[in-house]
Amino acid sequence: MNYFTTEAEAKVIETARRVAQEVFKPLRAKYDDAEEYCPQATQAMAKAGIFGLWLPKEYGGAGLGITALSLAFEELSKVCIGLSLPAGTSALGGMPMFFWGMPEQRAKWAPDLASGKKLWAFALSEAQAGSDATAIKTTAKLDGDYYILNGSKHYISTGGEADFYTVAVSTNPERGARGISLIVVEKGTPGFTFGKKERKMGLRTNPTYDLIFRDCRVPAANLIGGEGKGLLIVQELFDYSRPGIAAQAIGLAQGALDETVKFLKIRRQFDQPVIAFQSIGHELADLTAQVEAGRALVYKITSEMDKNFIAASTAAIASNTTVHDELKKLKGPRWTKYSAAAKLFCSDTAMKVADRCINLCGGIAYTRDFPLEKYARDAKVTQIYEGTNHIQKNEIMSALIKEG
Ligand SMILES: Cc1cc2nc3c(=O)[nH]c(=O)nc-3n(C[C@H](O)[C@H](O)[C@H](O)COP(=O)(O)OP(=O)(O)OC[C@H]3O[C@@H](n4cnc5c(N)ncnc54)[C@H](O)[C@@H]3O)c2cc1C
Repeated sequence: MNYFTTEAEAKVIETARRVAQEVFKPLRAKYDDAEEYCPQATQAMAKAGIFGLWLPKEYGGAGLGITALSLAFEELSKVCIGLSLPAGTSALGGMPMFFWGMPEQRAKWAPDLASGKKLWAFALSEAQAGSDATAIKTTAKLDGDYYILNGSKHYISTGGEADFYTVAVSTNPERGARGISLIVVEKGTPGFTFGKKERKMGLRTNPTYDLIFRDCRVPAANLIGGEGKGLLIVQELFDYSRPGIAAQAIGLAQGALDETVKFLKIRRQFDQPVIAFQSIGHELADLTAQVEAGRALVYKITSEMDKNFIAASTAAIASNTTVHDELKKLKGPRWTKYSAAAKLFCSDTAMKVADRCINLCGGIAYTRDFPLEKYARDAKVTQIYEGTNHIQKNEIMSALIKEG
């Protein structure tokens, strides 16, 4: 069943499916084994217009909002989350600029973001600041028209490959959480280098790097949203980005289920296809129901979100204001509880589905000749990045306490 009947959304699904099946599928095992970045996959997404789905037409995007982006993530993640991730980190890294950036910052950066010509990444985490983002130690000191950055970032997706990094820094350490700001740093800026590349359990087709800043001079014009606004921006960012992780997770779960059903129809034991055993079929039915529930949750949230998001984007361009200011005028709801619930439910579902599919298929699923072990390794990260699921529960709990 297709929940999304607009012609444009159906086309997004079809396009992303073609990229996933024709480009990602033949490459995923090779790049997973080599633990390397795959430029062909990124180029195919750029050519298909995936980077700009959520951005307005004025910047070369499709103007279709968060739903279209999530639909694309779902289709691509049915085959490989890691190969799709440059589009994910570009949205995550670019959203602060798009939501809070001044019109001239949008005009400067959004067109190349929309075309996929320039890749973006988002750098919040540090070695001692994971779940607790308020503990960041990277500093940015104003010196004339420049900020001077010192410190390092940890576990940064699309590290080394991205052209622009939206980096959380402390511009006023005395003010603690209220002294955190976001600044865009371009690859190649003197004083900005890459440190350790992680060797990972999964998500091996996307590079995860440390970023190192040593007396790195960044134009003050690259500050996003003003000094001290960093954590507010990150909170709003995650409200809009976490459904994208949920969509990745649902795509992965669906991909694992599809491979499983296909195999169990062919695999015969005791003179019958394994799928004909009722205990096996019932388990597939339970897993399918959970995936459908997750999918409904994701797209209900994104379609509600898009009403104000698309209106605010249009208004910001027409009246030369920020998207954030236009969103505030529209007085829409805060999405924190719903986005956290979607990420929590869908990532737990992905992990459960990948694990159970291995049991359902038996020995072959434990080998690298079959994609299920990769699905299980990749699923884990959806429970960790953009906040672990403990943190999602904390978000939901805080909302419940406020509401009560
Ligand atoms: C492959 C990969 C890619 C990543 N990509 C990026 C990226 O692009 N950009 C970026 O900025 N970061 C990125 N991260 C970092 C990621 O967001 C963090 O790993 C995550 O937020 C958790 O932080 P941590 O690993 O330091 O764990 P910790 O915060 O040290 O947590 C350890 C444990 O304590 C629990 N915990 C911590 N605080 C609480 C609490 N208050 N209540 C209950 N439990 C709690 C956690 O849930 C976890 O179980 C990436 C991580 C990975 C693994």
